[in-house]
Amino acid sequence: MFDATYKIIIFGDAGTGKTTLTQRYMTNLFKSDSKMTIGVEFEVKSIEIDDFKIKLQIWDFGGEERFRFILPTYVKGAAGGIFMYDITNYSSLAHIDDWLLVIQKEAETLFPIIVVGGKGDLADEREVSNDEGIEIAKSRNASAFIECSAKTGANVEIVFESLTKSMMKNSGFY
Ligand code: GDP
Ligand code: MG
Repeated sequence: MFDATYKIIIFGDAGTGKTTLTQRYMTNLFKSDSKMTIGVEFEVKSIEIDDFKIKLQIWDFGGEERFRFILPTYVKGAAGGIFMYDITNYSSLAHIDDWLLVIQKEAETLFPIIVVGGKGDLADEREVSNDEGIEIAKSRNASAFIECSAKTGANVEIVFESLTKSMMKNSGFY
């Protein structure tokens, strides 16, 4: 039995590493999965936080324009969100407000969103400093800011743990 089930949505520009992050997280502590082939996929994984068993449904939006019609379904019932940008691509961070607007338009309730800078291993190609990421996250009232690398695995688990804790707070666990 689970103490809670949360739907997480991942959004951000194409190519920022959303699918790779999800896959990396799934396969490290391998659990079951389930796939949809129409522009959205979701994966299921259980996580334990402070002895609570939480089931995460992680939705990964393909992002192609032709799948925009899926967005209301995508956002419906979400308990938390991950906005992902690529630290080697400044415009992927600059698009944060476009994405937040799209999500807020469809959301029925406010839910915690964290800002995640992906491809942290590509230090030589960095276009966004850690400080810039932190600043944007703070100014948009994000619940957290984390840089990670799906390639090395650095901070990948922390992304999901941090968001889960925020969702638990938001739904009255603490
Ligand atoms: P999505 O469109 O946001 O789902 O992005 P993908 O997950 O498909 O990744 C886009 C590209 O970035 C792929 O070529 C990945 O191999 C690469 N990529 C994703 N994460 C990382 C990372 O942490 N480090 C590096 N070096 N490349 C990454
Ligand atoms: Mg993808």
